[in-house]
Amino acid sequence: MTGASVKVAVRVRPFNSREVSRGAKCVIQMQDNSTCISNPKQPKEMPKSFTFDYSYWSHTTPEDPGFASQRQVYLDIGEEMLRHAFEGYNVCIFAYGQTGAGKSYTMMGKQEPGQQGIIPQLCEDLFKRTVDNASPDLSFSVEVSYMEIYCERVRDLLNPKSKGTLRVREHPIMGPYVEDLSKLAVTSFHDIADLMDCGNKARTVAATNMNETSSRSHAVFTIVFTQKRHDQMTNLDTEKPYKLLYMPWGHIAMGVPCRPLQEGANINKSLTTLGKVISTLAEMQNSKKKKSDFIPYRDSVLTWLLKENLGGNSRTAMIAALSPADINYEETLSTLRYADRAK
Ligand code: ADP
Repeated sequence: MTGASVKVAVRVRPFNSREVSRGAKCVIQMQDNSTCISNPKQPKEMPKSFTFDYSYWSHTTPEDPGFASQRQVYLDIGEEMLRHAFEGYNVCIFAYGQTGAGKSYTMMGKQEPGQQGIIPQLCEDLFKRTVDNASPDLSFSVEVSYMEIYCERVRDLLNPKSKGTLRVREHPIMGPYVEDLSKLAVTSFHDIADLMDCGNKARTVAATNMNETSSRSHAVFTIVFTQKRHDQMTNLDTEKPYKLLYMPWGHIAMGVPCRPLQEGANINKSLTTLGKVISTLAEMQNSKKKKSDFIPYRDSVLTWLLKENLGGNSRTAMIAALSPADINYEETLSTLRYADRAK
C-alpha cells in the first residue's frame, strides 16, 4: 500500500459444478494486477479493464502461473493489516461480491491444510504475537463481538436472547459504538471460530432462500485486542485497545424476487453509502484534499458504526469476490465497478 488507506483486491474463484454443467465460459482475464471482463453477449466489444492492488486468479489449478493460494492472499493482505493493527491503526477487512462468489472461502476458508482463509491465519499470528510480545510490563487481551445490521437495526449475534434492537451511540473520543453489545474474551482461534458459528446460527433467516440471507443483512465481526502496559517505576497501567473488523456479506442480486421494498432499499442504502464513503476517502487520499470534505458516514448505520475504522487512523482492505462464468457477467461487472470506486 503506497500511503493510501484502502487496499483493493479482486479474486476470481473456480467454476462451480452448476456452471460446469451449464457449459459456462470464462469471461475474466487477469494479468499482473489488472483484471479484464468481456461481455459474452457482445463478443466484438472491447473487454473492460480495471487495475487493483491485487488481481487474484484461482479459477485454474495451483500449478498455473498467477494462481493465488490462500497463503498468498493472507501474506499480501492479512499480514499487512495485522501489522497495521499492532502499529495502532483501526483495521477493517471486508469481502464483497455476489452470493457464492467466494467471500467466505477467502475470509474463513476450509479446515483442510492450505485451505484456511485470512481470518484463521490472522488470528493464529495475532495470538502468537500477543504471547511472543508479552513481558512483565506488557500483556494483551483479546475480545470479540458479532453484530448484524438488518434493515438499519443492530442485533447482538452473541446474545441472541436479547431480542431487541441495540442503540447506536457516540462516545466523544472513541466514536460511534453499539450500546450493550456483548464482548467475549477469547484466547485462541478455536474460541473465535466457535463464537462465529454460534453467531452465524443466530443470523436473521428472513429469506425463504437461505442463500439470500447474506445479501439481506450485514454481519460485522469485531476483534478487539487490548495492549496493557505496566510501568514499574510509577506502578501505573495504561490500556490501549485496537480494533480489527471482519465483515462478510453479499451484494444485491439483481432481480431477486419477493424482497419487501423497504428491506431492499435499506440494504442498498448501506452498500451504496459504504461505496460513497470509501470512494470519497480514496479521492481525498489521492488528491490530498482537506479532511473537512464531507464524508457521508451518517447516511447508514453500517458506515456510521465503521466511521473510526474507515476514516482517520485506519487501514481498510476490501476483497471483491468474482465468479469466472459468463452467466454471472452482469453481477461480476457490478462487483468490479464497486471495487473500482474504492481505489
Ligand atoms: P460466498 O461466501 O461469497 O457466498 P463461498 O465462499 O461460500 O461464497 O464460495 C462458494 C463455493 O466456491 C464454496 O464451495 C467455496 O469453497 C468455493 N470457492 C470460492 N472461492 C474459491 C477459491 N478461490 N478456490 C477454491 N474454491 C473456492
